[in-house]
Amino acid sequence: MLNLVLFGPPGAGKGTQAEFLIKSYGLEHLSTGDLLRSEIAAGTKLGLEAKSFMEKGELVPDEVVIGMIKTKLENNKAVKGFIFDGFPRTVDQAKALDNLLNENGTPISGMLSLEVDKQELINRLMKRGEISGRPDDQDQSVIENRINVYNQKTLPLIEYYKPQGKHFGINGMGSIEDIAGRLEAVITKL
Ligand code: AMP
Repeated sequence: MLNLVLFGPPGAGKGTQAEFLIKSYGLEHLSTGDLLRSEIAAGTKLGLEAKSFMEKGELVPDEVVIGMIKTKLENNKAVKGFIFDGFPRTVDQAKALDNLLNENGTPISGMLSLEVDKQELINRLMKRGEISGRPDDQDQSVIENRINVYNQKTLPLIEYYKPQGKHFGINGMGSIEDIAGRLEAVITKL
């Protein structure tokens, strides 16, 4: 099984590259951001709870997102592997994910970390906001907060995966095809 963590700040291109990886490797895409937006659209209790955090660019509580991932893993036992996109975002989430995957004996194969300049992130997110209408991509202060939250709470995950030899830094600047090629070069070695 190939289990990949697609890692990087908001606007790094995780969703775009995940689409390419799904096609190339036949993996199941698990994006906690997409799952949360579906909950909001469906008007569920979970969605309502998550919305207030997402609007401010804060993280939704760990137990909420871990619960969602647990359900998805239980319901997708026969897949070739997963691409985790936007998850884990805290060290506690990473530990919970390891516990869930170890139960099945299918650990994380690698963490692919897309590296992009801050100004480029802001430009990409504002552009995405115009197209998608995502409220958290349209407000510069919310975008700044998401990048700050990423630096404080999510970036330390690199130090979680590094000692396990699972961290791979990837230049996330340039064309979609070039970045996809860099990801592929790492994945073939896993
Ligand atoms: P994304 O689509 O990955 O940019 O996520 C959008 C928003 O959903 C984030 O700003 C968070 O509020 C929330 N979110 C998504 N994934 C997580 C996660 N793993 N942990 C906590 N909050 C999350």
